[in-house]
Amino acid sequence: MRRWFRLGRLRAVHAPIFLHWSVFMLAAICAVALVKAPLHALVLLASILILIVGHELGHALVCRRLGVKVLAIYISAGHGRCVHGVPYSRWEEALIAWGGVAAQASMAIPFLVLDAFWVGPRGLLGEPISILGYFSLLTIAFNLLPVQGLDGSKAWYIASEWRLNLKAKRVASKALRRLGSRKQTSSAEHKRGR
Ligand SMILES: [Zn+2]
Repeated sequence: MRRWFRLGRLRAVHAPIFLHWSVFMLAAICAVALVKAPLHALVLLASILILIVGHELGHALVCRRLGVKVLAIYISAGHGRCVHGVPYSRWEEALIAWGGVAAQASMAIPFLVLDAFWVGPRGLLGEPISILGYFSLLTIAFNLLPVQGLDGSKAWYIASEWRLNLKAKRVASKALRRLGSRKQTSSAEHKRGR
């Protein structure tokens, strides 16, 4: 049985995108569960897919920005995967991990703000507010757990790399200060020697 279907090539990241058969199963479940409200079923399915594709696109765009090749994006009903080349450093690995989280957050915030000020029935906005807003926040929190297989296993490299950068800068500036004071001393000695 064919598991993955190639949808095409995403121009923004120069990579093919594949859809798992479980997405079609999810579409069927949404259609059956919301048979009396087909438009709601469609919006619900679209919200779930936008959440997953948006997250992976966030990873892919950071990859492109860093010059790391994006090989493919895989989307299934439950989650997605952005397959890319090997990043140059742990710092880059962390940035790529945060790319997915940032993409989700940038989609969640407008819906959460909208919900805070919306008066009256939500109508078709109910699904995106629930999925792209509140559910997305929950998945961000879960995904940032420092557990192997989740983005949190790499995202928190940023703290240690930040500390290393600061330490390297301190050592470098100390060395430069010492070099500067040595130069001053030797030029003073030269003046005295003249
Ligand atoms: Zn991710």
